[in-house]
Amino acid sequence: MRSVQATTSDPEWLPDTKSRYQGCLLGGAVGDALGAPVEFTSFANIIEQFGANGIQDFAPAYGRIGAITDDTQMTLFTAEGLVRAHVRGHLKGICDPPSVVHGAYLRWLRTQGEKPAKLDHEIEMDGWLVSVSTLWNRRCPGNTCLSALRDTRQLGQNAGNKSKGCGTVMRIAPVGLLRQDGVFELASRIAALTHGHPSGILAAGFLAELLKEINLGRSLSEALPMAKASLIEQDNHVEVLAAIERAEAAASSGDSSAVSAGKLGEGWIAEEALSIALFSALQERNFEHAVVTAVNHSGDSDSTGAIAGNICGLLYGVESIPERWLSRLEMREEIGQIADDLQAIVEGGLDIESEDTWRKYPGY
Ligand SMILES: [Mg+2]
Repeated sequence: MRSVQATTSDPEWLPDTKSRYQGCLLGGAVGDALGAPVEFTSFANIIEQFGANGIQDFAPAYGRIGAITDDTQMTLFTAEGLVRAHVRGHLKGICDPPSVVHGAYLRWLRTQGEKPAKLDHEIEMDGWLVSVSTLWNRRCPGNTCLSALRDTRQLGQNAGNKSKGCGTVMRIAPVGLLRQDGVFELASRIAALTHGHPSGILAAGFLAELLKEINLGRSLSEALPMAKASLIEQDNHVEVLAAIERAEAAASSGDSSAVSAGKLGEGWIAEEALSIALFSALQERNFEHAVVTAVNHSGDSDSTGAIAGNICGLLYGVESIPERWLSRLEMREEIGQIADDLQAIVEGGLDIESEDTWRKYPGY
């Protein structure tokens, strides 16, 4: 029988594909929800509020327990865009996936009460995701994502800013679940829709590549050098590579205070968020411990929790996520649904030609 708290030290443990897809997206949402109450709280104040071990469990944020934030909202729209791009590619034969994902992000922008004023056409508010009323809430959305999307003139066009905020890497996990070549480049192009700095873009490319290798059945220690090799092929990779290597060095020296003491940064910028999440996953070979480690610091706790949750949920499967978190997670059903649909397009299990599919995921 599978243990609930699966770890890589259990040689019998290998999550099945459904468990991995569910684990990656629900794990990210759980990490997001765990970090949400302390996103803007210093580590000293976290200790004061939650005790010497920091925050260990869901606490109220945005008026409820288990509230997801902009990180999960945007991750869902990334996934929606990828499925809609797949439908378009299949039925029309021609498709630029980043442009379709861009359209999905503009639907997210509308849920935040804003519009792309410079776009010469209206964005269709169709498909099932945007009709989920709980998404129509502002959960401290990132300024760069908002302003870049507001300024959109053309779908698929890169943002004109120089930002490397973590809004690239915290939303990119669904790209890593596509089993195809070019995941690094696709994630980079999707990141560049909102962020112009190479480190913001490459952190997203790296995470997607890492998740792709894990999804193919590799362990974290096997996947890491492969994703790093892809990173090193890119121009301007030095800053992101250094952040990854800081995480690896801290984990191999067993420096358990690396995150809480801020040694890997605060996670507001992409390479630091990646570094904190990666350290947490390397240090704690257990979903619960890894996301707890990832959120207990003075910085962007929901984003670092979300990324650590994406990595560890994919590694260990949905069964590794404590049920007390899943049962109180906002949008659990919808997140599970989109994970299933993403898996279906990868495995060819989605009935592309059915009217129901088109209604849920119109191909544009
Ligand atoms: Mg957030």
